[in-house]
Amino acid sequence: MEIIKSIHDMQSKMMQWKQSGKSIGFVPTMGYLHEGHQQLMKKARQENDIVVTSIFVNPLQFGPDEDYERYPRDEVHDTDIAKKEQVDILFYPHVNEMYPKDQTIRMTVHQRVDVLCGKSRPGHFDGVVTILAKLFNIVYPDYVYLGLKDAQQVAVVDALIQDYNFPIKLRPIATVREQDGLAKSSRNVNLSDQERIEAPYIYQALLHGQKLMQAGEQDAEVIIKEVSHFIHTHTHGKIDYVDLLSYPELERVNHINEQVILAVAVYFKHARLIDNVVLDQQGSFATAIV
Ligand code: AMP
Repeated sequence: MEIIKSIHDMQSKMMQWKQSGKSIGFVPTMGYLHEGHQQLMKKARQENDIVVTSIFVNPLQFGPDEDYERYPRDEVHDTDIAKKEQVDILFYPHVNEMYPKDQTIRMTVHQRVDVLCGKSRPGHFDGVVTILAKLFNIVYPDYVYLGLKDAQQVAVVDALIQDYNFPIKLRPIATVREQDGLAKSSRNVNLSDQERIEAPYIYQALLHGQKLMQAGEQDAEVIIKEVSHFIHTHTHGKIDYVDLLSYPELERVNHINEQVILAVAVYFKHARLIDNVVLDQQGSFATAIV
């Protein structure tokens, strides 16, 4: 595995692969790699000649009161994981390499962002599409692998690829969970012992909502209330949102008659956890996502 820190070196390397007809699979991450990221790398490895992973904690997607400084980092551990997953190139740029000066042009996302994390994290998805557009122009991927744990991100990147004609196929990958159901996340290390015990109830709450749908409940408000109540009852976390929307459009549905996302975000003391399920009209897990 080669570790590359400069954009110029990366572009010349990638251009060579591209010109020799190799397919390139790309897994963008913020590091502190865990089995969720590894699943993306495994899928990329299966489907491509060349696998590139990037590690970059992107300041642009963190709000002023968010955890940019506290975000966990571990270069040695991450390098080992990437090697283990047979990544060919680890792109590990310094923040000054990616943002040498204030940007002259800013990207703003207009749809799919006035709900869920986009609503409580203003500007977050502007930062996400900015860094991904830059990375797409550095890595030249054929396929990009994103986790459905961040399902709104998948929906926004789907729009980025379509709106800006990036010749890239999006591969959404199912959420990888701990044995007790908690979605794996780099932020889980910031939970206290008691919070770690309570956190799996977030997924239990989503499954409770799914059961209601499977039993024939079609009123989104009823499901949202039930899921919120479940989280209140089983955790001390503060609910940021519980919502049920069409997917990937992320529009409000009153009566459920299409593919939907049931999504939650919960604040614990030092970590905000998110989770979701994407379901078809009958409440079964959806297969083709975007
Ligand atoms: P991050 O490093 O948190 O920005 O995540 C990088 C990529 O890994 C994103 O596409 C995430 O959606 C994905 N990812 C993070 N956690 C998981 C998980 N538990 N299961 C599947 N994918 C994940």
